[in-house]
Amino acid sequence: GLVIPGGESTTLNKLLKIKKLDEGIIEHSYKGLHLWGTCAGLIILANNLKLIELDIERNAYGSQINSFSSKIKFCNDNISVKFIRAPKIVNVGKNVDVLSVHNGDVIAVSNKNVFATTFHPEVTLDDTVYNYFTSRIRN
Ligand code: GLN
Repeated sequence: GLVIPGGESTTLNKLLKIKKLDEGIIEHSYKGLHLWGTCAGLIILANNLKLIELDIERNAYGSQINSFSSKIKFCNDNISVKFIRAPKIVNVGKNVDVLSVHNGDVIAVSNKNVFATTFHPEVTLDDTVYNYFTSRIRN
């Protein structure tokens, strides 16, 4: 599996192109490589690599100072995650499964071997979402 992390999606996209990684990721994804995009990684998967059909509003909760922690429900677990200048998913394609909704916002989605979350799970010390991703790979 490959995790495309958070950060700044315009920059990540430039680097993917400069390093010519974009086409390789797309090709391996078509062959079944599991992908997980968190935050900016979700934006890359949807807007740039076109591997999951989502309409996204970037920086939808405001600027950096409006970033926040939240308890969310993910696959029957209550976990603590961070939304760091996070995007909002405003529309999901017809083949996209919604895995988690928080305060009316879709925050985790998947389509076949592509998984994406608008939040960061790695800042808090909880491995629930990592275990979920590795179980997707194993299954
Ligand atoms: N605001 C960033 C973007 O739009 C995403 C932020 C993040 O990944 N934490 O690319």
